[in-house]
Amino acid sequence: MRILCYHGCALDDEFLFRPGLFMTPKTFENRLSFIKDQGYPVVGLGEAVENLENHNLPSNAVAITIDDGWYGTFKHQYPALRQHGFPSTLYIASYYMEKQTQVFNVALAYVVWKSRVQAIDFSALGFPNIGSATSTDDAADSLCKIANSMEGSAERQELFRKTCETIDADWKQIESDRLISFMTAAEAAEIAANGVDIQLHTHRHVFPDDSEQMASQEIIDNRSSLNDIARTRLDHFCYPSGVYSANSVKFLERLDMKTATTTTPGFNRPGAHPLELKRFLDSESVSELEFEAELSGFFELIRRTGYKI
Ligand SMILES: [Zn+2]
Repeated sequence: MRILCYHGCALDDEFLFRPGLFMTPKTFENRLSFIKDQGYPVVGLGEAVENLENHNLPSNAVAITIDDGWYGTFKHQYPALRQHGFPSTLYIASYYMEKQTQVFNVALAYVVWKSRVQAIDFSALGFPNIGSATSTDDAADSLCKIANSMEGSAERQELFRKTCETIDADWKQIESDRLISFMTAAEAAEIAANGVDIQLHTHRHVFPDDSEQMASQEIIDNRSSLNDIARTRLDHFCYPSGVYSANSVKFLERLDMKTATTTTPGFNRPGAHPLELKRFLDSESVSELEFEAELSGFFELIRRTGYKI
């Protein structure tokens, strides 16, 4: 079984900023058309994992998963999936869906990237003691550190706006276009009602493997946020940023999670650990030829010879 992993779809030029995170709607549509034209059977993830164990899965089966819950997923990926009649699983990290602010660290890096500024005057932002950053990366890092020490999302959004004003970025436009932000709970409910399986991705996009209490709390908060939205039981999970360890697997076992997906590439065969499912991370950086090589099993063959892809 092949499991494909997607993230957001670009609303503007985000695919140039982070091609691993934002794909153009056209590339996504091309992928779906390719899957359909080549006759790969697309199956829902939960059903696929069950049938994999029963040896009851059609040959070359593909499951489609999307991470995070970006607004671009609602705007572009969901209609495309619906048009093709493909089942899919959307793992939502619910914090930014609830808050409806920009995803701070990504939005900040985006405006800094777009403005091509070399330094940010921190005194203008009300932080005179930090000094000025020597590169845009330093600037974004320093601002993220400040943001992480802040109490809430409204305060962080204020810092985002101030930063935009300092570097002549148009935060009003970014906010009204809903760039670098998540879909609303109502939008998530709409796509769930139309067949997209909404599942767990933690509340704050972290799943610490050194604190079972904190990791469990992430699942509790994520479940309570998605409970009224999802149409199926919330017992499928995707590790945030693909980070996991033997401890994380143990935590999920104790939380009765049925499946968990990683970002380790590869096919899944009968006997695969259901809490360590492999996925192919598709993105704007993956060429059509590479996508074909993955789906056809050519890359898997290469991996089996010991090469890393
Ligand atoms: Zn994620």
